[in-house]
Parts: sequence; C-alpha cells; structure tokens
Amino acid sequence: MRKPIRRAAVIGAGVMGSGIAAHLANAGVEVLLIDIVPPNLTDAERRQRSARDRFASSGLDKALKARPAAFFHKDRARLVSVGNVEDDLEKLRSIDLVVEAIIEQLEPKRALFEKLEGVIASDCVVASNTSGLRIAEMTKGRSDSFRRRFLVMHFFNPVRYMKLLELVGGPDTSPETLDHVRRFGEDALGKGVVFGKDTPNFIGNRIGVHAMLAGIHLMLDEGLAPEDVDAITGEPLGHPKSASFRTADLVGIDTLVHVADHCHASLERDEDRNVFEVPSYIRAMVEKKLLGDKTKGGFYRKGKDGAIETLDPKTLAYRPRGGDKGIRGTCKEISGIEDVRERLRKLVSGGGKAGEFAWKVLSRSLAYSARRIGEITDDVAAIDDAMKWGYNWELGPFETWDALGFDAVVDRMKKDGIALPESIDRMRASGAKSFYGGDGRVFDLIKGQYGKRAIDPRTAPLTVLRQGTSAVLKNDGAEAWDLGGGVLGLTFKTKANSLDPDVVQLIHDSVARAELDFQALVIANQGEHFCVGANLFLVVSAAMQKEWDQIRSMVKGFQLACQRMKYARVPVVAAPYGMTLGGGLELCLGAGTVQAAAETYAGLVEVGVGLIPGGGGNMNLLWRAFEGVPEGATVDPYALVTQVFKNVMMARVATSAPEAKAFGYFRREAGVSFDRARLISEARSRAIGLAGSGWHPPAPRAHVLPGESGIATVQMMITTLVDAGQASAHDAKIGGKLAEVLCGGRGGGSREVTEDDMLELEREAFVSLCGEPKTQERMQFMLTNNKPLRN
Ligand code: NAD
Repeated sequence: MRKPIRRAAVIGAGVMGSGIAAHLANAGVEVLLIDIVPPNLTDAERRQRSARDRFASSGLDKALKARPAAFFHKDRARLVSVGNVEDDLEKLRSIDLVVEAIIEQLEPKRALFEKLEGVIASDCVVASNTSGLRIAEMTKGRSDSFRRRFLVMHFFNPVRYMKLLELVGGPDTSPETLDHVRRFGEDALGKGVVFGKDTPNFIGNRIGVHAMLAGIHLMLDEGLAPEDVDAITGEPLGHPKSASFRTADLVGIDTLVHVADHCHASLERDEDRNVFEVPSYIRAMVEKKLLGDKTKGGFYRKGKDGAIETLDPKTLAYRPRGGDKGIRGTCKEISGIEDVRERLRKLVSGGGKAGEFAWKVLSRSLAYSARRIGEITDDVAAIDDAMKWGYNWELGPFETWDALGFDAVVDRMKKDGIALPESIDRMRASGAKSFYGGDGRVFDLIKGQYGKRAIDPRTAPLTVLRQGTSAVLKNDGAEAWDLGGGVLGLTFKTKANSLDPDVVQLIHDSVARAELDFQALVIANQGEHFCVGANLFLVVSAAMQKEWDQIRSMVKGFQLACQRMKYARVPVVAAPYGMTLGGGLELCLGAGTVQAAAETYAGLVEVGVGLIPGGGGNMNLLWRAFEGVPEGATVDPYALVTQVFKNVMMARVATSAPEAKAFGYFRREAGVSFDRARLISEARSRAIGLAGSGWHPPAPRAHVLPGESGIATVQMMITTLVDAGQASAHDAKIGGKLAEVLCGGRGGGSREVTEDDMLELEREAFVSLCGEPKTQERMQFMLTNNKPLRN
C-alpha cells in the first residue's frame, strides 16, 4: 500500500501552480509552493529571504485575492508555505507529491526534474502539469525509479472549479502510481479523473480547441459575425453561454494560440491539422495585445459607454455589438428549451443559417472525436467526460451524437463527404443504435462491441439509488423515495426547487413517514441549485391582495416544517449544493445535519426582497451562534446578535461549504462532499451513520436576549449606515424589524426567550414587511428582473 499524500510541493507559482496549491490546501494537504528567485534583485535584496521568495509569495497572494476564490476559506492558506528553488530544495525530502507547474518549455522542466531526483524520497510521486509535452522527452536521463513514479497531472483553470483532471502515464509509469494518484485526485481533490494517452494536448484541449477553431474558421467562410457564432455555439449546442469567442476572451487569446500552435506543430499527420492553423487576424490580435479579458479587449470589449463592442476580424476595429437578427431569434428560442437533447435536435434539424452552421461545426467535431479513438484514448466515455468536466459542455461528443440519432448522423456525414473511421461502420454493422446502450454499457469502438462501464457506487445518482418503481410519497411539489438502507429521500420538483405549500406539506409528511418506516430522512434535491428560497410569486400575490392571514399561515407552515425536521425522531440530513439561499438555507438550519457539496453558495438573502427570513432562520442562526459557549461562560449575547444581524442584513452569501461553516450557517462538523456527484450517496451514508450511532433528537432551547437595550444599540448601527449612504430608509425599516426579532422583542430588558416566542416575533415581522409598499416593489422587481432592487 502506498503512503497517503499529506505533504505536497508545487513548483511554479503562476496561474496554475498557485491554483493547484490552493486546491491542495482546500483538501487539507500541507503545501510548499516554490518558484525561482526573481532574476533582477539588488545585492541587498539577494540576501533577503522575503525578496528571494517574492515570486512564490506573490503567487500565494494572487490565489488569496482570486475571484472566483481559489481557497474555500482564507484560513486554508495557512497550510501553504512559500519558498524558492535555490534555498528550499532540501525541504522536498519529506514530500509525498511534487507537482511541477513551471513555464511550458522542455529544457527548464528537464533541468528541474534532474535536480529533484537528487533530493526527493524514493517513494515520492512527481507530476507535471504540462499541457502537452511528451513524458519520454521530459524524463530523458532520469532513473527507472523516477520514471515509474512520474506522470502528467493536467489540471484545468480555475483549478478549484474545473472538475477535469487528466492523468497521463508515460511508457514507464507504474500502474500503482497511476492508481494512487487517481484515488488522490478523486477522493481527496474531488476531481473527475480521465486517463489520456501521451499525445499533444491530451483529450480535453485537443477536442475542445479543435471544435472552437473549427467554428472560428467557418465563421469567415459562411460570412457570419462573432456574435452569430457565439449565439449558435453556446446554449443551443449545450455548451456554456460563453460559447466560442467569449470563452477565448476569458481563457486568453495568447493561451488559445499557444495550444493551437502546439497542436499544429506536433500533429504533423493529423488529417485536420489545418483546423489548428491560427487565422492571421487572431495572430494580429496577439501582436496588438488584444488578448481578451486580461487586456480588457479581445473579440469583445466594453466600450466607453459600457456597451459591449465586437472586433471586426477584417479591420481589427471595434464596432457596436450586432449580428444577424434571424440567428439571434432562432437561438434564443432554442436556448429556452430545458432538455439539452431536445435543444440539439431542434437546432440541427431546423435548418436555416443557425442549423446549417451548427451541423457543420458539430459534424466536424463529432467525426474528429471518433477518429481520435485509439490515438488519444480508447474510450468514448473518456472523451465525453473530459468535455463535460473540462469545458462545461452539457453533453460530450458521443452523447451529442446519440441525441441526434446515431444512424441519422452517420448518414448525413457520409452524404456530406465527412471521413469516418472504419470502427463506426463496424459499429453500425453490429446493429448498435447508440454509443451508450443503457445499463451502464458503452460501445467500445476498438473491440467493436458494447462493454460494461465500471461505475463508482459513490457517484450513484438518485435514479440508481431509488428502490422500487414508485415514490413512497408524492404531490405536485415534491416526492420521497426509498433510497435503501432505511433512508427516505425527499426531492423537490418545483422550478429552481423553490418552496411552496406542496413542498412544505411533503416535508411534514416525509418526516412523519420516515419516523414510522425508515431510520433517516435525506433532502436530496436535483437540478442546478439546491433551493433558491420561497416561491416569491405566491408571497407577492398574497401581499397585493392583502391576504395577511394567508401569508401568516404560509410562514407558520414553513416554520413548523423546519421545527418538525429539527425534532424528528430520526436524523434528517440536508444535502445542499449550488445556490442555497433564503428558505433553502433555513431548511438546512432546520434539518440540523448537513452534508454539503464543497461548492455551496449559502446565505439568508431575504433583505434583497424587502423581507427577513421567515422559516425560523433568524432564530436558528442565532441559536447556532450560542452553541459551543459553555454554560456559565459570560458571553455578551449582544455580540452574537450583532454578528447574526450583519449576516442577515447584508445578505452575506458564503461561497463554499467551509466558508458557510465559518459564517455559522453550517455546523463545524457538517460533511463536505468535494465531488458533487457523490453528494447524495455521502448524505445517505451520513444519515445511516447517525441512525446507527445512537441518534436522539435535541431538546428545545431558550436563550437570554438583550431586549430593548439591544434593539436601541442595533438601531444606532443602522443610523450610521443610513447616514453613510450605505443603507436606504427602507433598509433601516427592515433592519429595525430584524433587530427586534434577534433581540427577543420589545417590552423590557434582557430576558429568556423561547423558540415559540422567537418564531412568533419572526412571523409577525415578516407579515408586517409584506404590507410595506417598498417591500412589494422589491419583490416584484426581483420577479421581473431576477436581481435585487435597492429602494
Ligand atoms: P505562468 O507563466 O503563469 O507560471 C509559471 C511560473 O513558473 C512563473 O511564476 C515562473 O516564475 C515559474 N518558473 C519558471 N521557470 C521556473 C523554474 N525553473 N523553477 C521554478 N519556477 C519556475 O504559467 P501557467 O499558466 O501557470 O502554466 C504552468 C504550466 O501549467 C505550464 O506547463 C502550462 O502549460 C500548464 N498549464 C497551463 C494551463 C493554463 O490554463 N494556464 C492549464 C493547464 C496546464
């Protein structure tokens, strides 16, 4: 058995090295981040350690300031220490994994590996993050032992957020090394590992850059504009909205050119080599430093008046954003279709300029992917996974092909004279009608038959976990299924998983049913976000009609549902991910136990719509703050009240599960799933673990709250904010209500306040805010514009 990776060194503290170091630290690995000693130091500086480490420390600094954040929480940076390659090589003796992320040139990498070999331990794994240099070349001159422990670990930028990790072994890399790093990548870092062969740019960039450049070349042939291409190659194709040109601006035109040039130079026998030839206008852009977002101008830029302008490829001058209205209309309509397969079919079969262009780009990319089987990987699923995880495509090329119909695509490609490999003819002759055959079978183009795909049970989706053929409970808003192991799984079915009376009813029913027939309950939602809060439309409608009792009873129903979960006779585990806002976070506070995806964005954001939390969120957040304070300790409750007040008043959203713990939204012991695909299965395991380890419901608590004096002090804080122009008069009104709730109500000094008292205060504050015209304006604005109004 190999020793676990506890300490790593990352060499090269640039864009990738600092991102890799941060994510290793996110995973609890101690990291030494080193770079070269800056070449132009003064003699005095040369003797100063801080100056010698400057490149590495500035890399760490950049990671700390990165947006989106590279670290889950800033305290993770304490696991990273910095140094330089001249003074700190000795420290590598005790390292378990070295990741090299220096400049993409063979000689410096080779020289570094030679130095490393002299110091690292005999079982230290060495990985290069190269984008495409050959392993045999990089390890020339190294010992057998070094080459056995050497591999490529190709991360994608930004490292924390991109799921793809390509692992590539050289001719001498041992299977144990590959397996060891695969496990580390998947289990510790939460990555989706794809094994590639040692070919230029591996899988993701080979297929991704080919597809991107195919579209860019075709644009000029077809007389289209960049915005037309982006309209077609974004959402309608199941690709990110940034599509082709906007993505290039984000990645950096120089990087795109670098990868394309590398492919062009090294793929001498590639039948599509010309696709990797960078058009001359793009080269001219690099010369003019029009590199995309980093130079504030690429294919697009923000004009002086803030309006977006587009670069005209023929003149290299910017013009107002425009494009073909017909294409825009078609693509907008198609983008509205939720099912990606349906979207693709509609686009490609719809013809017209958009449909024809889409087919030309897709057919080239799909055929190119098929022809790469055997060269870059043997496995069609590896290409699909790489494109989903590394390029955020909703479907990989072979899944896209299946969606359009295997036979129909082959027929049309043949009609268009597009070259297909023999393996596709053999597949057709075998009678197969799709690459993915159901039951986890995938067509193996090398063997010419279906093969079973090994699926990690920890990534089993709900559809696999569900037992039986029908739900245990179901209404229009949610359903609960038996997930096996004595766990009932409740899943919302509403739009964006919002909370409505049906959902609330099924929470009550599911807890009751779980107490009778199961040992635990898991809130296992699906879709892009866990829950974006209450169905605002229902609240606005009731408010407009002055149905105060109806609002009061809706709020009470949700409060009771949260309390029901909290005091259930079985453990209730919420499994948040993505946006977990407002009522979504209140659910997690109610459920008590949380297993969250690392990428969870949680906050009580009700103030944005002129309200305060209404599902017990104020109380539960404050009660959380009191947890951990030993009985008898003199802690000023006002200090806790003000922090909770600030978090709610500022609608403070935590941008990771660990940060949500630091903000007091999740308990410190909440589970964190690094790989979102494992979330449901890990939440289920947690529920089973709790049920099997003597779980009992807690007792209701009461706390001494400051009352009038606390309210008065918070009011002063609010007045300062209003005077400084940081809060409006209406914010002040909302703040006043919130202060009253958090301080335990008016009418006296500090006193012990029960949960029932708190819930009533919260309910009444919520209902009274619903009656405020400015709150109604805020709610309506949010419904129509999907962003908060400050009034
Ligand atoms: P970068 O230029 O941002 O950073 C490179 C860093 O390495 C610099 O800080 C430089 O000072 C340092 N360095 C150079 N020579 C060194 C040496 N001999 N010893 C120690 N440090 C040295 O580059 P990057 O974008 O972070 O790329 C690093 C590697 O990762 C390259 O191999 C690149 O191909 C690969 N890569 C890049 C991306 C990307 O999107 N940028 C993605 C995947 C892989």
